[in-house]
Amino acid sequence: MTTILDGKQTAKEVRARVKEGCAAFLERTGRAPGLAVVLVGDDPASAIYTRNKAKAAAKCGMYDVHHRLDAATPEAEVLDLVAQLNEDPGVDGILVQLPLPSHIDPDKIIAAIAPEKDADGFHPINVGRLWIGHAAPVACTPLGITTILDRYEIDVKGMNAVIIGRSNIVGKPMAALLIRRHATVTICHSRTKDLAGVIRGADLVVAAIGRAKFVTADMVKEGAVVIDVGINRLEDGTLAGDVDFEPVAERAGAITPVPGGVGPMTIATLLANVLELAEARGA
Ligand code: NDP
Repeated sequence: MTTILDGKQTAKEVRARVKEGCAAFLERTGRAPGLAVVLVGDDPASAIYTRNKAKAAAKCGMYDVHHRLDAATPEAEVLDLVAQLNEDPGVDGILVQLPLPSHIDPDKIIAAIAPEKDADGFHPINVGRLWIGHAAPVACTPLGITTILDRYEIDVKGMNAVIIGRSNIVGKPMAALLIRRHATVTICHSRTKDLAGVIRGADLVVAAIGRAKFVTADMVKEGAVVIDVGINRLEDGTLAGDVDFEPVAERAGAITPVPGGVGPMTIATLLANVLELAEARGA
């Protein structure tokens, strides 16, 4: 029997824990943990993401500030806003929604966020901390995946884990987290030779490619754990992951669906990160 790894339910549990944590933090310190969300421009998908993030934060009892800046805002102004938020005692976590308009260098903006307020775990100092095994905020999507693995008591120790995709927001931090959990990790990308053969050797597959139904049943080892990060909009308007769900689910031991798998975990994990940052900063 294949286990369907329910990210929606797991996310609900995480949000409930964060809500309790926020109430306890408020009682102890007299203030709610604070998240500042910055959106530059009017990309419709980013507008929805940021609105959902701010809404979810408010629902958990966080103080949330949402800054919407015009697409033409100069880079220096965005840097000024980040500097203000770094100094704001009511803000524990800062998130600048990516992608940014092309005249703004995302690396510069990320590096300007105080590492102790880095809600997304993208700051180079936090990335370094993650790789050397020190405590740090970690990118929300891969951290959310480990939360799903924990909920279903999937121990990756000794597993051959194959991650398809080497982005800074998913593939690379995922590799760091899985190595920390004693998996043997391979990261694949568009130049990988015999990709299907590599995936076939995997006990755990994490697909973060951005191509609908890319991972097919013939690539997956019987009983493997399959984590689908992809969110792809099909021509008929429906969503599909990077994994060809039904046939792969027949071979896999456990699999995340799309929607309802990894997706809901990303915002829940962001909230958990902000609460942790607030607790680390104290009153
Ligand atoms: P990127 O576009 O940054 O990275 C995609 C990766 O896939 C790259 O490393 C690329 O290789 C690799 N790739 C592309 N084509 C192939 C191929 N034919 N064979 C092997 N590897 C290939 O994507 P992201 O990491 O940002 O996102 C990946 C997917 O996850 C997207 O669908 C995105 O929407 C989704 N996503 C979902 C989230 C969630 O909350 N569920 C959060 C973040 C992303 P190369 O480096 O060589 O170009």
